[in-house]
Amino acid sequence: MSDKDQYAVFGSPIKHSKSPRIHQFFAKQTHQDLEYRAVLVPAEPFEQAVNDFFAQGGRGLNCTVPLKELAWAYADKKTERAELSKAVNTLALQSDGSILGDNTDGIGLVTDLKKNNAIQLKGKRVLILGAGGASRGIIGPIQDELPESITVANRTIGKALNLATEFAHKGAISACGYTELAGLSFDLIINATSASLSDDLPPLVEGLLKEQGSCYDLAYANEPTAFVRWAHEQGALKSLDGLGMLIEQAAEAFYLWRGVRPTSAELIGVLEAERVS
Ligand code: NDP
Repeated sequence: MSDKDQYAVFGSPIKHSKSPRIHQFFAKQTHQDLEYRAVLVPAEPFEQAVNDFFAQGGRGLNCTVPLKELAWAYADKKTERAELSKAVNTLALQSDGSILGDNTDGIGLVTDLKKNNAIQLKGKRVLILGAGGASRGIIGPIQDELPESITVANRTIGKALNLATEFAHKGAISACGYTELAGLSFDLIINATSASLSDDLPPLVEGLLKEQGSCYDLAYANEPTAFVRWAHEQGALKSLDGLGMLIEQAAEAFYLWRGVRPTSAELIGVLEAERVS
């Protein structure tokens, strides 16, 4: 193995991961000497693969689908936001040999909304579609921005209700099914379902988006996702996908590992340009 500090993303599938490119860009930008690779790791040998990685000198890992809950269970210690979300996307070797687990997805989303797109959350009515792992990761950091309220809508209502119960101590949050959204309206609608991955949409009623409201799809693709297209039809002020979140969650993980904060604007520009060309 090379004598450079080793980092990697584990997941399945992993072939199309942009993480190696993002972290290599950040390393060059901040003059950090490291290697970062993508490794196909399914759930079954996860623990062994992580043990081997750190035993062979690995310094930090990202974990993606379907490993975030397993990574949460693996970590010796967790940040508060990771503890609450019950999912970990970043593992970091500590100086005492223990492994710290963090979840940088939510702060990645908030940074992309606020810093890159001037969308503020304070005092806003936020609707989150979906109650899976991604929703778990973003609710806490959104609550930290003091929105007026968060509503979680999900196909399986029980999962949304569980989330609302778990996060109720941090701010106003309620849960419902899609039909119960009729008559409500929101400043920001975040699609945290995986429907876009099959070019599908959750069953959304009309009139959900307030005038001057914006929409954000956590999924990203070269073409506008079904949700991004829906948002345009609703007259959204901004209709964004999750590329910026992906880059910002990586920037936060990079900072955790290296103590140096990369800047993301240039990389966002490069990757945005690639998908329109
Ligand atoms: P999960 O599998 O944990 O959850 C999927 C959610 O989507 C569930 O709430 C499920 O509802 C819902 N769902 C799936 N299909 C439909 C449909 N056709 N109509 C309505 N609801 C549907 O996935 P994750 O939470 O891990 O990921 C969600 C999305 O977030 C993915 O697109 C992923 O790529 C994206 N993501 C992006 C990140 C980024 O950095 N940009 C980071 C993390 C995730 P039910 O519970 O009823 O089954």
